Amino acid sequence: MTEFAKDSILVLVDTTLDGRIEASTAELIGAASLVGTPVLVVPRGIAENAGNNAGDSADIVKELGDLGAATVLIGEASNINNPHDLVDVLSAAEKLVKPQAILTSHSAQGRDVAARFAARYRRGLLTDVVGVARDEEGIIAQHSAFGGAYQVTAAVTLNAPVITLRRGTVEHRPQPAQATQESLTLERTQRRSVTIESAETQTAVSERPDLRGAQKVVSGGRGMGSEEGFKLVEQLADALGAAVGASRAAVDAGFTQPSSQVGQTGVYVSPQLYVALGISGAIQHRAGMQTAKTIVAINQDADAPIFEIADFGVVGDVFTVVPALIDALDARKK
Ligand SMILES: Cc1cc2nc3c(=O)[nH]c(=O)nc-3n(C[C@H](O)[C@H](O)[C@H](O)COP(=O)(O)OP(=O)(O)OC[C@H]3O[C@@H](n4cnc5c(N)ncnc54)[C@H](O)[C@@H]3O)c2cc1C
Repeated sequence: MTEFAKDSILVLVDTTLDGRIEASTAELIGAASLVGTPVLVVPRGIAENAGNNAGDSADIVKELGDLGAATVLIGEASNINNPHDLVDVLSAAEKLVKPQAILTSHSAQGRDVAARFAARYRRGLLTDVVGVARDEEGIIAQHSAFGGAYQVTAAVTLNAPVITLRRGTVEHRPQPAQATQESLTLERTQRRSVTIESAETQTAVSERPDLRGAQKVVSGGRGMGSEEGFKLVEQLADALGAAVGASRAAVDAGFTQPSSQVGQTGVYVSPQLYVALGISGAIQHRAGMQTAKTIVAINQDADAPIFEIADFGVVGDVFTVVPALIDALDARKK
């Protein structure tokens, strides 16, 4: 039987509804490798999707090894979208490995599994973490609190912490490794569980990058004035190859769809570039984008709070500045 490193960190592979590995898995492995040895947990259905034949998981083991996983543990999950099944797989992995931390994505699935696991086994849960590190007592997690106004360090003092990691916050990527594979033996808990009879993926038809995990985001606010005016946000996004975001005011006014909302009650983004057009910078909006590496704001009010966190700001009318910016970007491409 495999001997697991003392500093093993269990990482639950992050997947799409149809069982493909999310790009954020690379980041989870990166975070785990900063504090220990990444041991990946993969539900069987996902391994089968990745392999050529049912049960052939060599491809996924190689893929995860290339991302830096030391070991890949594969456990039977009757439904990869059922969080109860995933908690069973995770708990079998935890018993086997005795890790120093358990890491999931802060995605809908990752949050769901992490919370259920922590509640079932009475573990400390650290959510929406933007960085992990070690101090003399063990693993610590960093949070970006109150709209990014404060960086908070938190630790769990009993047992291995369960940590959900915000996407786009960890840049470190470890060297590729020759991952070994092991099967998990699961004890089915007889707990009450949901049965998922079918799951359907709704694919948004868009050429633009997905807002979650995008490297560049252009967002528009109430200052865009109307649905028609909001098209300028999309035009700048296309000129930059960026995803489109919005403030809640823009969504509530019907300028764009709710899935574009960035902020406390919307999507959290952490891109390399965030461009805010006609957005005042309310704390609830900042909560979702303050960790962007470079923030550019265009607003006609020089006192708008967004300028407090912007790296570059233009005080002006979006309907004058943005078309000029698009022209300049187009001219560069020629
Ligand atoms: C519990 C709770 C949760 C919330 N969650 C979120 C959330 O997830 N995301 C979110 O965004 N908000 C959220 N909000 C709402 C938030 O408080 C703000 O109301 C909202 O972010 C404001 O959106 P805005 O900046 O587009 O609009 P406004 O605050 O009205 O700002 C519009 C800006 O556009 C500028 N402007 C106007 N015309 C032009 C022009 N022609 N050119 C340039 N600039 C112009 C103005 O100067 C102004 O600064 C939440 C609120 C609550 C209470």
